Amino acid sequence: MKIGILGGGQLARMIALAGYPLGLKFIVLDPDANAGAAGLSEHLHGAYDDPALLAELAEKADVVTYEFENVPAHVAEFLTSHTTVYPPANALAVAQDRLQEKNFFKQLNIGTAPFAAIDSLDDLQQAMPSIGYPAILKSRRMGYDGKGQVVIKAESELAAAWQAMNGAASIIEGFVPFQREVSIIAARRPSGEIVFYPLSENSHQGGILRVAECKTNDPLQSKAEAYVRSLLEALNYVGVIALELFDVKGELLANEFAPRVHNSGHWTIEGSETSQFENHLRAILDLPLGLTQARGYAAMVNFIGGLANDQQILALDNAHLHLYDKAPRKGRKVAHATVRADDANLFKQSLTTLATLADQVDDS
Ligand code: AMP
Repeated sequence: MKIGILGGGQLARMIALAGYPLGLKFIVLDPDANAGAAGLSEHLHGAYDDPALLAELAEKADVVTYEFENVPAHVAEFLTSHTTVYPPANALAVAQDRLQEKNFFKQLNIGTAPFAAIDSLDDLQQAMPSIGYPAILKSRRMGYDGKGQVVIKAESELAAAWQAMNGAASIIEGFVPFQREVSIIAARRPSGEIVFYPLSENSHQGGILRVAECKTNDPLQSKAEAYVRSLLEALNYVGVIALELFDVKGELLANEFAPRVHNSGHWTIEGSETSQFENHLRAILDLPLGLTQARGYAAMVNFIGGLANDQQILALDNAHLHLYDKAPRKGRKVAHATVRADDANLFKQSLTTLATLADQVDDS
């Protein structure tokens, strides 16, 4: 079987690494000549909407999936009419537009911050009394890792905030006073079978994920599972999904979902019985899903902008280093390392050292 992947970065690379033991072959479409997954797959080198390359991908791949969600809608439509595409194109369409996404959560009774659609300064001025300060203005499309977002603290900042959006269709959201950010990763097969991973507790720096820690027996696990289950079923979803949530004193509010494998689930490679990457492949191939239980304590630390001393990482007890084969650049994730241990103290020590090493990277 050959799996086609739109995007050939580290997520595609880790999907391919999980697929080799299952005897799978891969073909990726990516405009970057140095795409991280290129060495592990056939590489179609060109634009995501290049008709000839898309036709080749559809012809060569038994199933097409993607590692990023900003695939143009017409690309997903074209592929869907020529081959099997999972997750389904409707999930992409919802995830690509923050307004549709929030409305979809609302429809499913999944709690969110208060929000409103913004297409002008006038809309913003009218919305603020019900949204309240502080608030975040976000572009509806093409935003990730905090890009295309402005925090508004007072009425005097409204005009500048709207100007910063350059006229882009936007959404205003109330700023959530969360205690924690968590995410839940789940996988669904065409038959409807669903598996859930333990919650990840996530911390960010400058809008980019820095640490994700597996939380076995988290008190919010079943609530998060109910939310993601309703999403999966409403979308008739196939594959791995990640739902990002805010924990506000035990209440869960949804921020966004990603219709793909997710950075907050990288700890599952060593920290779970079956990784998110393998379960994504099993799901899209309609194979039995693997167990998702954690194997002891596990957490992942991202290396952003460059790599610390890799010898020091490798010398750490219970650490596992994953290099993405990417040139260092400001704000770019170039590697991650996972700590997995049965002993709580050893786990904490290694995680603290790893986080310190990640902080030593000069991301400027
Ligand atoms: P996003 O691009 O929507 O994933 O946002 C990136 C990060 O900004 C999130 O992980 C949060 O840390 C923060 N953030 C986004 N939306 C809100 C919100 N409504 N209230 C508080 N923090 C937020």
